Amino acid sequence: MSVREFHLSTPREGMINITSQVGQAVRESGVTSGICVVFTPHTTAAITINENADPDVVRDFMLGMDDAFPQNRAFQHMEGNSHAHLKSSNVGCSETIIIENGRLLLGTWQGIWFCEFDGPRNRRFWVKIISDGGAGQ
Ligand code: ZN
Repeated sequence: MSVREFHLSTPREGMINITSQVGQAVRESGVTSGICVVFTPHTTAAITINENADPDVVRDFMLGMDDAFPQNRAFQHMEGNSHAHLKSSNVGCSETIIIENGRLLLGTWQGIWFCEFDGPRNRRFWVKIISDGGAGQ
């Protein structure tokens, strides 16, 4: 099974809900039981799972990341975006989600988010779906 590639144009900073795109990739794969890996090949962006109901949660998430990883430190990296590299590694570049009955097995309030820490940029993420050969395959 192949890898699906998705493209995003991001703001300077922020979180983009990619749950529906990942869910559509699962449906189109026809896999009913297995795992789904969402991965981004960037060093100043990340993938995470968090609340998709109250938009204040992702705003607060980005605010909290600024507190945890302030921009104005004695960083030496010439590009001037070390804070974004730190955020990227802290959050992580991938998530793995269980597929059950042809659906992503997410909690009621969970969504899959692409995190931009150093935009605006053109970004990519990949979705790999692996069947476990369970019932319905
Ligand atoms: Zn850099």
